[in-house]
Amino acid sequence: MAIREILTVPNPVLREASKPVEQVTDDVRALMDDMLETMYAAPGIGLAAVQIGVPINVIVMDLAREGEQPQPRHFVNPKILDVDADFVPYEEGCLSVPGVFDTVDRPKRCKITYLNYNGGRVTEWAEGLYAVCIQHEMDHLKGVIFIDYLSRLKRDRAVRKVEKAGKSRVAA
Ligand code: ZN
Repeated sequence: MAIREILTVPNPVLREASKPVEQVTDDVRALMDDMLETMYAAPGIGLAAVQIGVPINVIVMDLAREGEQPQPRHFVNPKILDVDADFVPYEEGCLSVPGVFDTVDRPKRCKITYLNYNGGRVTEWAEGLYAVCIQHEMDHLKGVIFIDYLSRLKRDRAVRKVEKAGKSRVAA
């Protein structure tokens, strides 16, 4: 396993549409292992493959709270089959937009289908933080970032903040 570099805005790769995975091979599993290690190190609760520069339909997640056993989840070719009519607000952040948090409204629940680490098909309803996180990560697969839901002013400000932080890191 290896920690990969997480791309941040405005890196154009983050705007690419990810491609479907043909099969859950050992290579895909190795990528998911790296993604989880990268996500834990960041730390974060979800990561899409495109965020480490691999635009394929793969997501990892772990919603365990501090002190709980890790609960790694793997999603290959996830699709949303249905969503609740009810929307709920949640304050989101993103490893590709470090230091920026803002409220996004999303459907309260969503029904998803995906392949797991072993290539098995799972279909289930996600709710609560799980619903928020899977919708956020699946947006990444379409090149959509949570700041796209904010006003243009807030979005531009967020990108500038990340760019400025990145430059000072290089200078240090
Ligand atoms: Zn994100």
